[in-house]
Amino acid sequence: MTERTPFMAGNWKMNLDRKGGLALAAELRDRVGDRKDVEVAIFPPAVYIDELARALAGSPVRVGGQDCCEESSGAFTGEVSAAMLADSGAELVIVGHSERRHVYGETDEQVAKKVRQGLDAGLDVILCVGELLEEREAGQTQAVVRRQTSEGLKLVNEGEMARLVVAYEPVWAIGTGHTASPAQAGEVHSDLREFVAGLHGAHIAQSLRIQYGGSVNPANVAELMSVPDVDGALVGGASLSAEKFIPIIEFDHA
Ligand code: PEP
Repeated sequence: MTERTPFMAGNWKMNLDRKGGLALAAELRDRVGDRKDVEVAIFPPAVYIDELARALAGSPVRVGGQDCCEESSGAFTGEVSAAMLADSGAELVIVGHSERRHVYGETDEQVAKKVRQGLDAGLDVILCVGELLEEREAGQTQAVVRRQTSEGLKLVNEGEMARLVVAYEPVWAIGTGHTASPAQAGEVHSDLREFVAGLHGAHIAQSLRIQYGGSVNPANVAELMSVPDVDGALVGGASLSAEKFIPIIEFDHA
């Protein structure tokens, strides 16, 4: 079976100022050291990427953007292109986060274009997918997650799949304290891997890392990570302090 390195990603959203972000980055740099058994990335607000990427230069902790524009340049006031993120020191970008989809009305079409922009700019991409509570209650979880995945990946070729990570984030679990149970996460993650195998072949699906996101914290991370198809976590609230994010990075691998 393919070894998939666990990947812990901290999505800071619109939190932490320059001073707080630099202090957290310094602690992460210190505590992560040069360990290679787990991959770590932070996703600060775009205006701080440059400074944080410099602060983390030489450390395995990588820096990414939380979103990018679906266009490459032009009259798009307020937007930031994937190439600009890369130019500022970002190595990754999150695309299709539920707050983008459901607060800002981002469509599958836009998400697919953003994935393409990220790859074209040389960034690794975390594609977020996940159902709303009413979709879960209506028995639509599999259909929603499969649709968001196939649409999100539709402009990606096989050779690029190694630069993709999928994050399964049930919307009802994000920022709510209601984590999906290991069984709920496992069911969706294994279905997702099977689905990607159908799209791109078993080999690519076996190598694909699928993160879980939704109220991950130091107390529940080990149980979630023990689920065979859970390969890491996309963490919001608990990534904002070293006190919570470090134990997540250091989850019990046993
Ligand atoms: C997220 O923002 O992707 C997220 C999962 O947030 P939280 O961990 O706070 O639920």
